[in-house]
Amino acid sequence: MTHDVRQASGALATRIVHAGSPPFVNGTAPVNVPVERTSTVRHASTAAQHEVHARRKAGENVASYGRHGSQTHRALEDALLALEGGVRAFLVPSGLSAISLTFLALLSPGDHVIVTDSIYAPVRRLDAALLQRLGIELSYVAPADGQLEAAIRPHTRLIYTESPGSLLYEIYDLPAIARVARRHDIVLATDNTWASGILFRPLDAGADISVLAATKYVAGHSDVMLGAVIARTDAVAARIAAAHDVLGLTIGADDAYLALRGVRTLPVRMAQHQHNATHVAQWLQTQPGVGRVYYPALPEDPGHALWKRDFKGANGLVSFVLEGADVRAAEHVADALRLFAIGASWGGYESLVTVVAPERLDDHAQWNQAGAVLRLHVGLEDADDLIADLAQALQRAPAAALHAIGG
Ligand SMILES: *Cc1c(COP(=O)(O)O)cnc(C)c1O
Repeated sequence: MTHDVRQASGALATRIVHAGSPPFVNGTAPVNVPVERTSTVRHASTAAQHEVHARRKAGENVASYGRHGSQTHRALEDALLALEGGVRAFLVPSGLSAISLTFLALLSPGDHVIVTDSIYAPVRRLDAALLQRLGIELSYVAPADGQLEAAIRPHTRLIYTESPGSLLYEIYDLPAIARVARRHDIVLATDNTWASGILFRPLDAGADISVLAATKYVAGHSDVMLGAVIARTDAVAARIAAAHDVLGLTIGADDAYLALRGVRTLPVRMAQHQHNATHVAQWLQTQPGVGRVYYPALPEDPGHALWKRDFKGANGLVSFVLEGADVRAAEHVADALRLFAIGASWGGYESLVTVVAPERLDDHAQWNQAGAVLRLHVGLEDADDLIADLAQALQRAPAAALHAIGG
């Protein structure tokens, strides 16, 4: 099904507002695409059914069964293509299933994968729980100083990155990694959840696949689990399509609708997250007992120069070190916060805090600090209120914790 209004042009914000608009029927159309729920797709005749099957076989994204999605799904796919570029977007039930789909679609027993060491931690569980059993080998590298190219073997089939990295937001030179991948004929996939298309478009920088946890900023309201895999070329899309089909991956029309509703306001939400997070990060830098603050938009951040070159902005994620503190001390601070809810995930409108497990930091080559790390997701509350909350929590941390902070 093609509608001329789906192919909106113009700047990113314009395209995100207009992508997937429903077509006029008898001269009128709603603003929003209807939530079209169905399992069975009815065909007007067996001849019409044959035609749809033939078009699907030829690679066209047309539904002959509910598992392939409805017009609601098509509209969300169009919005994600507007965000990320690429030829085809595949919807899956979570960000983690988008990652698993990418690995399972592209890899066979005996293949080798290079993964950046700051990767979203459940990728390591995917490795231990499934990929090793399938005879697929992963190497974790910090891609600085040619280490990534040095890790390439004859059977390396995939380079999998995430930039900025999870927890400490290491920025990698993705265009340079793409050149290495191309030189060795290796597929490059990258987790773009941090930038969510709005701050960086990896397919434009030479990646073959962009993986999104749409659960986060795309949906943006902490009310839906959703993932997407976006392919830059038809050849890569065909490989993802084959696995997506037989793994039976699909999402409900209601969730597609929620994500579509969320994505319309992504540009304004992201700008406000950056505004608030920048204030919070700069304030944290001035606080006694607070060590390194990780936020790529800060000039002191190790990734700042690359971030400035490649990214259009930053999001709401800020991590910081409580100098000399242990996890217990960090937990006291988290417990004392009132506006920052204690919880995993991020990308919704609300502020969150998590105490980062020390063993997670040890996975990162860049980690070289003494202290515990708190990760904030700075939400859309008033920035001064958030700073006041952090100030009282840092002050109220009990004596034992302050002692630990004092080192
Ligand atoms: C949260 C997250 C995921 C997983 O998304 P879910 O929808 O929670 O499964 C993947 N990658 C990154 C970088 C994430 O932060």
